[in-house]
This record gives sequence, C-alpha cells and structure tokens, in this order.
Amino acid sequence: MNSPSQNKPALKLSRHSRDFANKVNSLAHTDTRMCFQCQACYNTCPFVGAMDVTPPAILRLVLLGEDKLVLNSTTIWTCVGCHTCSTICPQNVDMGAVMDALRQIALERGIAPAQPEVLIFHNAILDSIKKYGRTHKLEIMLRYKMKNLDLFSDMDVGLKMLAKRKLDMLPSRVKKIEQVRRLFSYSNGKSNG
Ligand code: SF4
Ligand code: SF4
Repeated sequence: MNSPSQNKPALKLSRHSRDFANKVNSLAHTDTRMCFQCQACYNTCPFVGAMDVTPPAILRLVLLGEDKLVLNSTTIWTCVGCHTCSTICPQNVDMGAVMDALRQIALERGIAPAQPEVLIFHNAILDSIKKYGRTHKLEIMLRYKMKNLDLFSDMDVGLKMLAKRKLDMLPSRVKKIEQVRRLFSYSNGKSNG
C-alpha cells in the first residue's frame, strides 16, 4: 500500500519551464536542478544587497519557467561574475555562468537591461579590447560617461588617477591585433576561416 506522501502528485513542470531551464543549463554548462536551496551562495555573494531577487531564488524561478521575471530582474545585471558563489556551492552549480546565460538570453530576446549602465560599461570594455587587444581605461571611462550623459560625476577620482599616472593618456595596441579581432568574428558567427 502506498504511503500518503507517495499518493501526492509530483510537481509537474510545463514544457515551457523545462525548455527554459534546459536552455539555461546548456548555455551555462551546469545543472540548475542540482540546487537544494542551502543559501550558501546567498550568504557569500558580495552584491546580494543590490539585487532584487536572490541568486538561489533566481535558480528556483528558472526551474519554474518564470523567464520574464528572471530576465527583467536587476540581479542578472548586478552580478559581476566573481564566481564566489560557484566556488562555494556544495552541488557544483555554477551560478556565475547561470547569470551569464541569463544576460545572453535577455539580449537575444531584446529585453532592455534592468540596469542599462552595466551593458554600456560592458560594451565600452569590449570595444576597447577589439580596437587595441587590451583595455584603454581612459577611453572606456569617457565612452561610458558620454553614453550615460554623465560627464562630470567622479571627476575628482579621474583627476587623481591621472595625477598618479594610473590612467594612460594614449592607448597601446597589442602586436597581433588581427588575432584578437578574429575572436570577435568567431563569437559573431562571422569567421571566414
Ligand atoms: S550554494 Fe548551490 S545548492 Fe546552495 S543555494 Fe546556492 S546554488 Fe543552490
Ligand atoms: S558571481 Fe554573481 S551571484 Fe555569484 S557571488 Fe559573484 S556577484 Fe554574486
């Protein structure tokens, strides 16, 4: 005879939920189903205070197929990819990679980032690497500030950094810049090689 718990129907996830979780798992190369909600990642994430949904809750929402909620959260843009959570997880869930995957899906779907300045900064860094093969911090800061229409905040910090020679006025380019640019072509699916 079945016990009462055996008679309870198991939680049935919709096809949409499974598809969304599978896509996240595949992009992140991790298994979100392994999370048993121990909250270790929540307790160690240095940026959790600035997130609207905690990292473990993001995983649960992914499994439940709550894609709109997850993809519109500030959490996926607040995460800096430090992987503190991934290294501490007893179930080997790579939360940092999950956040990457969710940002990628949000961009594919044309969902405006809940924190647009993060994407502006990200693109400024990538543009610099594509141009020089390394980052030119002064140009990154100027591009970021112009796109954000915020030229004058942090001016004091910038001037101090210039005075201490922490910012190079002119960029330097790596010798084999074409190899770096080829990486960008591969990632855009435009490799001719
Ligand atoms: S540390 Fe791992 S198992 Fe624990 S809540 Fe976070 S993702 Fe889940
Ligand atoms: S990778 Fe993201 S979620 Fe994980 S600890 Fe760092 S900021 Fe928090």
